[in-house]
Amino acid sequence: MEYVKLPKKYKTTRIKNINFDYNIPTYDIEVKDSHYYKTKDGIISHNTLNLMHPYMAMSYGIEPSFGLYFWKRTRISGKYEYYFCVPRAIRNIFEENNIKLKINSDTVKDTWDGKIGKSVAKIIDENIEKLNIKFKSSIDINALDKLDLISKVQQNIDNSISTTFMLSENSTVDDVYNFILEGYKKEVKSIAAFPDKKMYGIISFIPFKDLALKLKSEGIDIHPQNFDEEELKDMKMSNDYIVATSAPKRPLILPADIYSVIVKGEKFLVALGLLNGAPYEIFCGKMNGLNFKFQHKKGIIEKVKRGQYKLEIGNDIVVEDFSGYFKPVEAELFRLVSAGLRHGIPLKFLYEQLSKSSTDISSLTAAAARVLGKYIKKGEIANGIECPNCHKSNTIEYTDGCQSCSSCNWSKCSWKFLKIEVFIIFPYLY
Ligand SMILES: [Zn+2]
Repeated sequence: MEYVKLPKKYKTTRIKNINFDYNIPTYDIEVKDSHYYKTKDGIISHNTLNLMHPYMAMSYGIEPSFGLYFWKRTRISGKYEYYFCVPRAIRNIFEENNIKLKINSDTVKDTWDGKIGKSVAKIIDENIEKLNIKFKSSIDINALDKLDLISKVQQNIDNSISTTFMLSENSTVDDVYNFILEGYKKEVKSIAAFPDKKMYGIISFIPFKDLALKLKSEGIDIHPQNFDEEELKDMKMSNDYIVATSAPKRPLILPADIYSVIVKGEKFLVALGLLNGAPYEIFCGKMNGLNFKFQHKKGIIEKVKRGQYKLEIGNDIVVEDFSGYFKPVEAELFRLVSAGLRHGIPLKFLYEQLSKSSTDISSLTAAAARVLGKYIKKGEIANGIECPNCHKSNTIEYTDGCQSCSSCNWSKCSWKFLKIEVFIIFPYLY
């Protein structure tokens, strides 16, 4: 690719030290206040033109208005504000024909749903034919025709001309490239060309709320930053995102806690692989022939190869194909739970999900929950659970794998009640 050079025939015009009959002040922070943007030909540098208006106005730049009317939004104040705009030329036509447009300046403040502008827009639409207005909106203008215009004006301007060329929606990279080359041949100093696409921009011919809902119905994603809280509600959107996390790599050998748990008379084996003390993976199922007699022991789980794990407890118990002892349904369920563990889903969520199960695997998931519960940080508040005793919310805490209420003495495992009884009985024993 060759570099595009500015054609030699361009002449720059000194813009300093030029005297004119009048001057237009600029608010350009890069130059002194005594500096005015006006070229020898009397053409005002477009780049600064829209900064010079002392009142709220819309600068269309080199082009005529985008439409007979349109909405625009700005974020100058830190949050989005909406304006409805009718160019002066249009307002004049209506005034000359004695048709009242309830708008006294080019731009009036409007709302997201465009309720101010809608009524004015309706009057304009109803009278376009009657007033014989022939108007092409910016989206109806051929990009090559516009390039032609810009190239002719460009010869009288030292700066480049800021304008955006919208190419047809299905334009390829080559189309854009060729268009830019065309601009080079026509000696335009800068060019911004994009394939047109459906977007939630800063100009709209329909109220922004209608535009947003229309785009959403067409499956176009709009970033939530474009809306305030109320608008997000209307859009049924949220500022929240699911943050994707990646799991830490599994060392070949993980220290493990191995438990036997009895639920409804059935004995289950639960083994947790721990990474720095936190559950990284869980194996859970019926004893399936292993028949451990202990309640809890420490050991290691070694990854032999993908899908194959070896369990060692002390020197006496070695289960070579430990993972092979589990039934497919057990293996599949806890592969998912393990994925949740190592990807950082808070333990209490997994605990609560496993506790909810009410189908034929309820004993299996209850066994796993009972063990996982032990690893929930003491004092963590359970989510959205109301105390069944005092009916307060956000008072259910986890302690040693058990839910208990910090407000009353309710406990799912009734250990708190037990403790109280013990204290009462104690003095009598001694
Ligand atoms: Zn309570």
